[in-house]
Amino acid sequence: MKTRLIIVGPPGAGKGTQATYISDELQIPAISTGAIFRQNMADGTELGQKAKEYMEAGNLVPDEITDAMVKERLSHDDVANGFLLDGYPRNRAQVAALDEVLAESGDSLDAVLELSIPDDLIVGRLLKRAEIEGRSDDTEDVIRHRINVYHQETAPLVDVYKERGLLLTVDGVGTIEEVLDRILTQLNEFLGR
Ligand code: AMP
Repeated sequence: MKTRLIIVGPPGAGKGTQATYISDELQIPAISTGAIFRQNMADGTELGQKAKEYMEAGNLVPDEITDAMVKERLSHDDVANGFLLDGYPRNRAQVAALDEVLAESGDSLDAVLELSIPDDLIVGRLLKRAEIEGRSDDTEDVIRHRINVYHQETAPLVDVYKERGLLLTVDGVGTIEEVLDRILTQLNEFLGR
């Protein structure tokens, strides 16, 4: 059975970590736009050079760049069984771009998983990650800016998907195992599996 999912939530909610486990469990690739950008930056590709200044400032990379990258990624054979998008779409224009890509192949989304976590937990989590992973966009100023970008540009998407009956909100506070357990239980219920 194909499973096409999006995971959405503020920076530091644990999306990337949970996406990896969900991907293993459901045998679908987790596609993280942030990770693809970071890899391209590390490899010094043209795409990485284009994305760098936006990422380091905590701003969204322009839609035309991001949409084209996702469209290309969704043309790979490994999405035959479905996918889990982590960090995309991130604004309304990207929702429309994704709708178009899916419509072209006659596909549709099964669920949008929102990982919710209070703002006051986010900064501490991200500063900790900065120590471990050394991400250049995990400094306190940039973190605060990314939280604002999330509230202004990305949070409204949650309502769009809610209206479509696709939204599943899961409490993201707890240990990795607790949250994963919650996600898998609620997701199976939501998908009627
Ligand atoms: P993330 O790893 O999801 O926290 O993303 C890190 C950074 O990559 C973001 O702050 C943006 O600069 C960029 N990025 C990731 N996904 C997108 C997207 N869908 N649209 C625009 N920029 C993105």
